[in-house]
Amino acid sequence: MNVLVINAGSSSLKYQLLNPDTGDLLAKGLCERIGIDGKFTYKPQIAGKKKLDAVDVPMPTHSEAIQAVLSALADKDNGVVSSMKEIDAVGHRVVHGGESFNQSVRIDDQVLAAIESCIPLAPLHNPANLTGIRACQKAMPGVPMVAVFDTAFHQTMPPRAYMYALPYAYYEQDKVRRYGFHGTSHKYVAGRAAAMLGKKPEELKLISCHLGNGSSITAVDCGKSVDTSMGFTPLAGLPMGTRSGDLDAGILQYVMNKHKMNIDEMLGVLNKKSGVEGISGVSSDFRDLEQAAAEGNQRAALAQEKFAYEVRKYIGAYAAAMGGVDAVIFTAGVGENDGAIRAMATDGLGYMGIRLDPEANRVRGKETVISAPDSKVKVLLIPTNEELMIAKDTAALVR
Ligand code: AMP
Repeated sequence: MNVLVINAGSSSLKYQLLNPDTGDLLAKGLCERIGIDGKFTYKPQIAGKKKLDAVDVPMPTHSEAIQAVLSALADKDNGVVSSMKEIDAVGHRVVHGGESFNQSVRIDDQVLAAIESCIPLAPLHNPANLTGIRACQKAMPGVPMVAVFDTAFHQTMPPRAYMYALPYAYYEQDKVRRYGFHGTSHKYVAGRAAAMLGKKPEELKLISCHLGNGSSITAVDCGKSVDTSMGFTPLAGLPMGTRSGDLDAGILQYVMNKHKMNIDEMLGVLNKKSGVEGISGVSSDFRDLEQAAAEGNQRAALAQEKFAYEVRKYIGAYAAAMGGVDAVIFTAGVGENDGAIRAMATDGLGYMGIRLDPEANRVRGKETVISAPDSKVKVLLIPTNEELMIAKDTAALVR
């Protein structure tokens, strides 16, 4: 079986064609500048097939983008399938499922309407996801499609974790609550962790640290998300590349008055000019921070320290929330590659039974146990694979 995984943004569309059973990737790529001039990238994973790198392809809408993807995948010289008939299903990443979806679903008119009703919760993302779905439905009539939500995995959180201490009407009438994001990634690595430890998910208390450009940490008890650091929006929780993470809401009025900013400008600062970039003044990329810190830049070192400190606090908090922890997982760009951040984030947690093996912690991007042999709590490095998770959910639903 081959599943096409689509992640549609407002002017871009990422795609992968993969086999959900073996995990084999046949091709991947990207359509960019949709609605502008159109750039198409295609990377077949089969030897001898030629790739295309940001070539000009007119893409006035997502429909032309999907057509370009299908033509490339089934191209007689450089394609990876002999015809479109070999694409059995499509899995769409959808950012927000609100309280309507606690798992992936086959897409029908009712599901489309429910995704549409979540637009106020994700005004930038859900419309683009819907455009991608509709373009695929037009180009591939009759092919089953599935929606996989970033929020769905977190729908198991209990009210004490998802409620904000605000007037109750904001929840009841306006749906203001913690939703959480990166659910597909947290679910994938939690499943892999159980496999690595030779246990059933129901036997484990896990803390999953998805540390990338956007970062979130999730407490996974018995295979279910019971708390997560992102909130009503992906701005909450840890400091990130350019996002502030949690802050005292009282700061907003003070800074807006002082700098004569309106709320849109303030949110622009919190989303795009804060986080480790805001503190360091160097970069949102942890590789740049590491280099600058090594050259003596103290603000870059402070940004790393602040980030790792907040990760450490969440590990402690979620161990307390679950009444224990069996394994801590590091994943995503920073979690998979930055051994220094992993070491700083777990430093001093020996009293909780968390001890890294410095040698094992040198590894990057490979499923590995990085805790010391005598560490009561296992620390795991697990590369995330959201596309494979989407393909697996899709296959399970269409079979
Ligand atoms: P993601 O959002 O998961 O794609 O992660 C992207 C981020 O991972 C980048 O912005 C970098 O900060 C970080 N990253 C990627 N490679 C490395 C590396 N080798 N060392 C440290 N950080 C890295």
